[in-house]
This record gives sequence, C-alpha cells and structure tokens, in this order.
Amino acid sequence: TQLEEAYIHRHPTSHSIYKSATESLPGGNTRSVLFYAPYPLSIKYAEGARLHDADGHSYIDMLGEYTAGLYGHSEPLITNAIKSAVDRGLSFGSHHEDEAHLAKAIKTRFSPNMELLRFTNSGTEATLMALAAAKAYTGRKKIVVFSGGYHGGAFSFKAGVSSPVNAPHEYLIARYNSIDSVKDLAELPENRDDVAAIIVEPMIGSGGAIPGEPSFLEGLRKVANERGAVLIYDEVMTSRMYSGSGIQSQLTPENRPDLTTLGKWIGGGMSFGAFGGRREIMELFDPRKKNALAHAGTFNNNVLTMAAGRVGMEQIFTPEKAKALHDRGEKLRKQLEDVSKGTLMKWTGLGSIMNVSFTPATDITCPEDFGKPLTELGDCLHLFMLEHGYYMARRGFLALSLALTDKDLAGFVENVEAFVRAFQPLI
Ligand code: PLP
Repeated sequence: TQLEEAYIHRHPTSHSIYKSATESLPGGNTRSVLFYAPYPLSIKYAEGARLHDADGHSYIDMLGEYTAGLYGHSEPLITNAIKSAVDRGLSFGSHHEDEAHLAKAIKTRFSPNMELLRFTNSGTEATLMALAAAKAYTGRKKIVVFSGGYHGGAFSFKAGVSSPVNAPHEYLIARYNSIDSVKDLAELPENRDDVAAIIVEPMIGSGGAIPGEPSFLEGLRKVANERGAVLIYDEVMTSRMYSGSGIQSQLTPENRPDLTTLGKWIGGGMSFGAFGGRREIMELFDPRKKNALAHAGTFNNNVLTMAAGRVGMEQIFTPEKAKALHDRGEKLRKQLEDVSKGTLMKWTGLGSIMNVSFTPATDITCPEDFGKPLTELGDCLHLFMLEHGYYMARRGFLALSLALTDKDLAGFVENVEAFVRAFQPLI
C-alpha cells in the first residue's frame, strides 16, 4: 500500500490521462496485458533504452516492448529507413522491392526451415494462418497446444489471469515439457487420425519464460511424424535467440519444424508477423495455383515495416550481435539469481528474455510448477522498480534491447538486490 500511495502521488498526469481513456476504452485499455493497478503509466516519449512518462520521470526500459523493441526506441538506421520510406509514399497497393528483400533475409536467416514465407500484421495472425495451413494440408481438425502457452490474443492457454477469447479450433491441451502428456492425447482413438498440428513455443514466453528441454522438442517431432501432423514452432518471441535465428537453430536436421511463426522485432519495431516453412505446405498459398488458399491483409507488406525490418536484419541484428545479446542475457540472469538466492524470487528464461516469479518451487519445467501465484509480491517488485527508475512488466517479464548499456544492467541488478534487502523476510 505504501508503494501504491507513493506511485499515485508521483503520477497525477498519468492518472488523468488514464481516467480520460476509460471514457472510450474498456478499462482505459486496448492491450489487456498493459493494465496494472492502480493505473498504468502513460509514456510520452522514448529514446535509446529510456522511457519518459507524462509526469516527467524517466525509466530504463527492461521490458523492450515484450521483445518487439529489440532495437531500442531511436536506432538511427531504423529511424532513417522509416523516414525515407515515408518520403517514397505510403500504401502502394502493390508488391515492392523491400518486401522481397525482407522475405529473402528471413529465408536466409532461418535456412533451411523457411523455404517459403508470408507476411502478416501480427504474431496472432501468423498463428492463425499457420494453423489454417496445417488444417488444409492434412485435412484434419485437431490442434495440440500446451497449457500456459500463448500464441496471440486469440490463442491463449494461460490459466487464471483472464478468460481467453480463443479462435474456435478443437484444441488438445497437453503439459509443457511432458512428451507423455502429448502422446496420451495424440494416441486416443478419437484423436490419432485427426491431429492436424502440434504448435509449440520452444520456450514458453509470456507464460513464464520456461525453455523447452531438447528431449521434449525432439519428442514432439517424433509424435508429429508418427501421427502425420504438422509441427509448428511459434518463435514470435524466441526468434532472437542464439545467433538470431531462433531456438530451432539448435536442432539437428531431423528435428526441424514444418512451419514457423515469427513476429515482434523482425519488423524493426513496426507491426509485423510472418509464417513459413516447408515449400510443399506454403505452396498452398500460391495464387497461380487452382484452389489456392486465400491469405489477404491490406497491411501485410506495409512499406514502413518492410523497410525497417530489412535494415534491421541486414545491417543491425547480425548473427554476431545476436550472439552477444544472448550471452549478455545469460550473464544478467545468473547475476539476478545470485542476488535472489534463498528467496521466493525465481528467474527463468534463456538469453535476452527472462521472467521473475515468486514461488517456493525450485525446478520449473512447466507453468503448473509455479503453483498459486503470489501476485502481491510481484506487484511490490514492479512498483519498487518503477520507483527506482526501471520499467518492466507487472508479471515479471523482461526482454533486453540492444540499446541497454552495461551500466543500465548493473543498475538493475543493484535495485533487485535493494528490493531483496527491503522485503526480506517477506520474500
Ligand atoms: N506468439 C507468441 C509466442 C507471442 O509471445 C505473441 C505475443 O506476445 C504472439 C504469438 C502474438 O503476437 P502479436 O502480439 O504480434 O499478435
């Protein structure tokens, strides 16, 4: 309560902006994830890794727009690419060169798993289209998903937090990192010949940053092969991993997915999504073919996204830069684990994406392992970090951007340590 009172005292302008938003947006909100009590900050402008709120406070941005903000807020090459795209005119209603270039850059980066791909406006749409492709390709209906998984606003299998408004597929919900739970479902007589797809985040992202174990990911490939299902990797969040070509880059050739969905940073910070993979499946969308699957979308190839994405992938987030960011994330997570030792604060994640949860559990392999969420402690950490100038998600999610300095990261660790001191023995 003390933290909340201080927050209210420090943010009167954010409060009045929020109040006015509630008159036309339900709960003042148009992205459910951005609401937190007592009311969210209103950010006025940003530069590099810094956010500035409407009341004149500034924050180091540790959230990185849930991974889409990889380049920071004002990367000069990205900004110039967008400005020069604006100068060439908006919304052509036609194919254009940047579109072909970005597609080629993605195909090369994810080679050989992206023989053909298509763009969408968001990761949610990419999932929607990948599942439609799998159903059309197999002529089947059921989709294996994982409890705690998230593939966009219309594909959420997270418990508790809110009621999902999911697309009406026939879902079989298995347990993450448990290949037996997948087999049990896929081998039931009513399912065995009707599994169209298995869709998996190779690291559960917004459900708590829990990496998939290699044996689990390999097991999924086997089950998909046995059942004739399409294996879809949702790498909307994790495509930045290792050398910037996702968790799938670590797989041996026989374990590769059939389709992959992408999003977030690949659009350079503009709205973006893509799905692609095996030629044989993606050719279903070839409009030169009879009875091709329709896939439209006015802004799929919007000139700003294509220009920003292209420069980002070709010139900024090179495999070397990606590897360095991944390693920085690994190092940071270890430091955070060290300063939280012996407390309920548990850090999960991989590379530059991580999550902190309050739980007595020590070995977290699926979202169920977190147990009953201790949300009050998470709320305290969030408000404490805001008060000390660090912006993160209320639920404990962090995604590093290229704009963060070593000093920013060291300051974050120091403040987490200060939180541990202030809140022990409660945590
Ligand atoms: N898939 C995963 C794994 C995600 O984390 C998200 C968004 O957080 C999505 C899909 C949906 O992407 P978008 O928010 O661009 O619709």
